[in-house]
Amino acid sequence: MTADQFPYDRAVPGIIELQPYQPGKPIEQLERELGVANAIKLASNENPWGCSPLVLAAIRENLDLGLYPDANSFVLKEAIAAHLDVSSSHITLGNGSNDVLDLVTRVFVEPGDEVIYSEYAFLVYALVTKAVGGMSVVTSAKEWGHQLDAMSQAVNAKTKLIFIANPNNPTGTYVSKQALEQFLGEVPDNVVVVVDEAYFEYVEEDDYPNCVAWYAQYPNLVVTRTFSKIYGLASLRVGFSIASEEITDLLNRVRQPFNVNTLAQVAAQAALEDLEHVARCHDENKAQLQRLIGFCDEHGLGYIPSVANFVSVEFGDRTKEIYQSLLHKGVIVRPLDNYGMPNHLRITVGRENEMSQLYESLKPLL
Ligand SMILES: *Cc1c(COP(=O)(O)O)cnc(C)c1O
Repeated sequence: MTADQFPYDRAVPGIIELQPYQPGKPIEQLERELGVANAIKLASNENPWGCSPLVLAAIRENLDLGLYPDANSFVLKEAIAAHLDVSSSHITLGNGSNDVLDLVTRVFVEPGDEVIYSEYAFLVYALVTKAVGGMSVVTSAKEWGHQLDAMSQAVNAKTKLIFIANPNNPTGTYVSKQALEQFLGEVPDNVVVVVDEAYFEYVEEDDYPNCVAWYAQYPNLVVTRTFSKIYGLASLRVGFSIASEEITDLLNRVRQPFNVNTLAQVAAQAALEDLEHVARCHDENKAQLQRLIGFCDEHGLGYIPSVANFVSVEFGDRTKEIYQSLLHKGVIVRPLDNYGMPNHLRITVGRENEMSQLYESLKPLL
């Protein structure tokens, strides 16, 4: 069927340009397709140590599935508010932070409006932009990272929204506090800036900014965070934004009333009660990240220095072959062709034994 035939001819034009988001391959699918056993997935930046035991207990206690969830997630918002020292009136919860990225775009972007993001930035920015008929303005990257000066220079009268991933997925690069402050000072205050901090809890660098602290200062700033990464709740889908009360009010108008389910709400709340678990995952990640970098150095593999829980490693013209060979050995990593990075594979930092399996599988291929 072609684009000039029903139903494609009737679809919103931006949707015709879209390719569905390609997630990392699920373990069950690989085992089914290739007949391998004990496969491991290092492909979607999930937390390999999983969630806190408090989360599992909270879920067991709330298995009354017949009732709608609290549409305003009152208790969870209070918990996030206390954790981040903000008022609940600045918080919007989403079915994952991707949901919030979508809400922001639907609130501010009309067909023909421009949305700025960087080359190699998280693909969901393109997806939510095109879905509403927005025009993507993609600024070039420098050493794989966002060039904030190019982004502020790209602003014009049609610009409605700017996405910054800090750190960025799939490159693992980050922008400094000083650079981001300067950028926010340059951008007109009627252009909404989303700073996506999905990997915030992993970053240790001294010059890495905590943008939540800035929402009062910049009324055009939206900061997003998630429970999918270090909190280990990717399957439950909970994320949120911190923004001015006015932006929060607008997001709440387009939000589906029950976008965060009851189990997700109680799980996220319990996750915030076990910050020791988060600290442990942070430290484990750091140790295995350093080991991964060590492996790359030892074997002469190029990689993009990362401050998060994944590394994009360069395999040059052998990238596809190595990806396939790893699959046959039961190791799922993430090809980056749809990010325009066909010579890299993104490897999520796994547990010690998973990383050993990766290294043993890779060594004979190098
Ligand atoms: C994983 C990720 C998210 C989180 O998505 P959720 O919908 O919260 O699971 C957001 N932004 C980036 C850059 C990510 O890599």
